[in-house]
Amino acid sequence: MRAAILTDIHSNLAALEAVLAHAEAQNALDQIWSMGDLVGYGPQPSECLAQLRQYEFQSVTGNHDLAVVGGIDTRLFNPAAAAANHWNADRINDEERQYIKALPRTLVLDDISLVHGSLRDPVWEYMFTLEAAIGQFQQMTTPFSLVGHTHVPLIFAEQEDGGPPEYWQLEDGELIELGDRRLIMNPGGVGQPRDGDPRAAYAVYDSEARTIAFHRVGYDIERTQAIMTEAGLPASLISRLTRGR
Ligand code: ZN
Repeated sequence: MRAAILTDIHSNLAALEAVLAHAEAQNALDQIWSMGDLVGYGPQPSECLAQLRQYEFQSVTGNHDLAVVGGIDTRLFNPAAAAANHWNADRINDEERQYIKALPRTLVLDDISLVHGSLRDPVWEYMFTLEAAIGQFQQMTTPFSLVGHTHVPLIFAEQEDGGPPEYWQLEDGELIELGDRRLIMNPGGVGQPRDGDPRAAYAVYDSEARTIAFHRVGYDIERTQAIMTEAGLPASLISRLTRGR
């Protein structure tokens, strides 16, 4: 079984379509797993949900998903993100709202835990520090976990000698073997990358080979930006897509 692993799609249909085409070319769409933030920021929430739900699709919820369906207060977000969340909320229909509301906070698929932020704080914690990674390893009941939320492709590997986890940023084409070392992996964001590379980021899990491969995929950024401009979404959210920040 080969699954595409996506996170932080953020209503960016052009990015999602490019990633799905890339995954399709590698027969990696037996399933789609997601670490949340399907919506928010971008201009096409319903279109993205419809695309994803054509597949065997499983996702946890993210902070933006919860904000768009009224699960958390948008005052916890910066003004641009809050405005985009309200705009997304007005665009989805009741059935889509119920679908998002029903997303779980965590999932275990095979021997991999999925969560948006972290297992100790599924909605908000950013897996950006050694302290957060150590906390995650303590909470993990599986050898591997997949997270989102930071929009940066990053891996933490537990040290056998009990020392602080090793970590590095994942490059396009990097292949990670799921072996004896416990790992926390973030494939980076599909719809709003933040590592300075504007290309969409995602990963492919191969259950037989026991590997996860990390990929970057160029997409038509201007197409998404034109729809955002038309929609009157905040300029800061439009320009950041070009910079990948
Ligand atoms: Zn996000």
